[in-house]
This record gives sequence, structure tokens and C-alpha cells, in this order.
Amino acid sequence: MGIATVNPTTLETLQSFSALSPETIQLKLAQSESAFQSYRHTSFDDRRQWLLRAADMLENPDKSQQYAALMTLEMGKPIQEALGEVKKCAWVCRYYAEQAPLFLASQTIETDAQESWVCYQPLGIILAVMPWNFPFWQVFRFAAPALMAGNVGILKHASNVPQCALAIEQILVEAGFPEGVFQTLLISAQQVEMVVKDDRIKAATLTGSEPAGASLAAIAGSQIKKTVLELGGSDPFIVLASADVDAAVTTAVKARMLNTGQSCIAAKRFIVADAIADQFLEKFIAAFGALTLGDPISPQTNVGPLATTAILEELEQQVQIAVAHGAQVLIGGQRWSNLPGNFYQPTILSDITKNNPIYSQECFGPVALVFRVADMEAAIALANDSPFGLGASAWTTDPQEQDHLIKRLDAGAVFINGMVKSDPRLPFGGIKRSGYGRELGIQGIHEFVNIKTVWVK
Ligand code: NAP
Repeated sequence: MGIATVNPTTLETLQSFSALSPETIQLKLAQSESAFQSYRHTSFDDRRQWLLRAADMLENPDKSQQYAALMTLEMGKPIQEALGEVKKCAWVCRYYAEQAPLFLASQTIETDAQESWVCYQPLGIILAVMPWNFPFWQVFRFAAPALMAGNVGILKHASNVPQCALAIEQILVEAGFPEGVFQTLLISAQQVEMVVKDDRIKAATLTGSEPAGASLAAIAGSQIKKTVLELGGSDPFIVLASADVDAAVTTAVKARMLNTGQSCIAAKRFIVADAIADQFLEKFIAAFGALTLGDPISPQTNVGPLATTAILEELEQQVQIAVAHGAQVLIGGQRWSNLPGNFYQPTILSDITKNNPIYSQECFGPVALVFRVADMEAAIALANDSPFGLGASAWTTDPQEQDHLIKRLDAGAVFINGMVKSDPRLPFGGIKRSGYGRELGIQGIHEFVNIKTVWVK
């Protein structure tokens, strides 16, 4: 697929872009390197002012409408969610504008030296390879801490959201960041290798699929460059007997359907205790049936199109194979054809056995897998029986069960009686095949700095 805006609601190609030539890439890397040499010496106060100005732009009512509409146009996100995403980007900018100086303050440590301390210095140009599913948020959650730390950023965004990529660059430039501090490179996935191997690139972060992460990490590893990988997930959503079933169902639907199901931290496997399973399922199916599918630009729409036809075809095939292996369709299970775009019906599958391929796959769309279990032990065993380990949500009012779940779920985050979500204040990332490293929080900002030890006598 080339670099283009293809409206997933109508399938019209609205604008195509040529990938940058190797010469232009070289020129842009030179600009970034030269920008870093002066940007690294700017004060926290300057960086703070620029980031706050970016937040102001994101909060401007006209502009936020425009950015949200752009996301909806390029990747089909329901407009209300797109507006929420723009708002969250402003929040991450404000948060790091204020907190980064604290997170990056030097720390004195008593040793045999007269004075010894640890300080945090920028590394240089960081490459960010980003996905289309949260086209603004994924970039700002990288950029806000990285730029506050004195690094400069190069963005290789997904090929289906080029206008979002350019809009983000423009926001940061208009906000006052010096030229070259944040640049978008419209390049193909194949051109990433050349960029990662360039000596001027000091580290890379990738949010996306396993194959993309493995490829980037292998190339970066061959150059001894650090990477952070935020990859796929098949998060469990465990509902135990003591849970508030109504609250769990309401949140379960939201957690599965956010961004039309195309979220790494969406709840994908619903693991429900036998004691309340019938009650949960009845309400869950009814809530799926009540969702409004349609044009994502309409504020009433809860479920829009999938971002690309390839994603739709993959999801459709996953469900067909699952059914051929004995899965039962409780609702949905097919494309939705009222509009020409990439629509798939909200779907719930049950009776999924361990030998069913879907048991260990990520479903990147509006498809929920439901499992019934006897008790908490069985729920934990099933939840952990996955190649992924991004987030986990568990519902119980029993403090002892909560404690067990927190300790024993293999995931980068556990949320009790709530849905897994990212928050500028909390570190975010996974274990197992969901990746490594963290974004956000003090842990996230420390991923791309030189943690320098100083010893003075
Ligand atoms: P993808 O194909 O891996 O694309 C993500 C980014 O990687 C795009 O910019 C893509 O560029 C680039 N890319 C693809 N192959 C590459 C390669 N071999 N080398 C370097 N870059 C490469 O991912 P996707 O299918 O669009 O996104 C969905 C996946 O992302 C899901 O698995 C989801 O769970 C995961 N995700 C994870 C998180 C998280 O925080 N953990 C958040 C969101 C999404 P092109 O578009 O040009 O191919």
C-alpha cells in the first residue's frame, strides 16, 4: 500500500503522497542533527512554553474539530472519540511541560566521592514508528516526554494517516519548537531500515504489530541502539462472581469497542465465572445489539469502519476459521453492508477451545471472545495462557481476590473494577510478545535519556 488518505467509510482515495527520496531523507536527518546540537541546550522553561502552546492549539475549538475530523477521514475513528483523543493529547503536553523537570532532576547519591549524583541527558534523534489506530495520541505520548528531555524526534507514521502526520509536525512547529526538532518523514516501512542504521539516529520506539517490532528491533540491535516496543495485545477482562455485573457489562462493551475494537489495550477475551455467566452474557449480547454502526463523522455513531480493507478481510477470515473450529456466534459474525466501507458487525464468539487458532490470536476489530470458567484460579490460568501480556482488567469486590489477581496476572498493567486505559501519569507497556520498555511516567521519560553517573573527588 502506498502512502495515501483512503476514506475507510467510502473507500475513496482522497490524496496520495510520494515517499521521500533517499536524498531528501538525508537532508532531513542533517536538519534534525543540527537542530539537536542547539536544542539540547535549551532550557526546560523554553521547552515548556512550546509544549504548552501546542496544548493551546490542540484545545482550540476550531482546530480540535479539524484534527478530529482528519483522523475520522483517514482511519474512520468515530468523531466523538477523535475529539476525546485530541483533548488527551493536550493533556499529555501539559503534564510533561510541568512534570518533566521533576522527572529529570539530578539525584544525589552518597558514595565514597566528595559528591556523586545521577543526571539525565538527552540522547539525540529518536525515531518513532507509529500506528494509525490512535494517530494523534500515539505520537504525542512519545513526543511530549521526548522533547521535554531535550531529544529531537523523527516520525515515521503509518502509511494510511499521512495528513495526520503532517498536521502533528505543523502543530509542533507553529507552537515554537525550533526547525528540525520534530519532523515527519513520509516514508515506506522498507525505508525504515536505512533510517535506523543512520549513525545520527540514537534510538527508536515502535508501536505496532509483532513483525514490525521484531524487524525494527533486529536492525536496531545490529547497530547497538536501544528500542522500546509497544506491540499487540489480547487483554483479558475477568468477571468474577462478586462483581457488579451491570457496571462490568457497560465497561466491557466500551473496553472492547473503543476505536471500533482496534486498540492494543482493548479487552478482547472476556473470562466470566460460571455463577454469573448467563446474566453477564445476556446483557453483553443485548448491549452489542444496541450499538450504532455507521458513518463515523456522525456524533451518534459508536462503531465505525475498520481502518483498511486488509484489516476487515483479516478479521473476517479469523472469525470464519474460528467458527470452522467450533466457535459459536452469539451475535454478528459478518460484514455490515449498509455503507460501502470496511464495516464489520459487533460480534461475540463463545465455545472457543484451546486448539482454535483464535484462542491465541489478537482480534483487531469489534469481535469479543467469551470464555466461562469455574473460579478465579481457572480465570487466571486462562488469562495467562496467551502469547501477549499488555493489560488486564478484573472485576471482583473481594479484596483477597483482588490481591491474587494483581500479583498473578502476567501483564504490564492490571486494572481492578475498571477498564485498561493509558494515562499520561502512569507508565504504559507490556511483557511477553506485547513488547518491552515503557512509555509515559517517570519510567517512560527515562527510556530515552543518558542516565549519567557523576563521581567527583
Ligand atoms: P503495523 O503494520 O506494524 O504498523 C505500525 C507502524 O509500523 C506503521 O508505521 C508501519 O508502516 C510500520 N511498519 C510496518 N512494518 C514495518 C517494518 N517491517 N519495519 C518498520 N516499520 C514497519 O501495525 P498495524 O497493524 O498497523 O497496527 C496494529 C498493531 O499495533 C496491533 O497489533 C496493535 O495491538 C498494535 N498496537 C500496539 C499499541 C501499544 O501501545 N502496545 C498501540 C497501538 C497499536 P506502514 O503503515 O507504512 O506499513
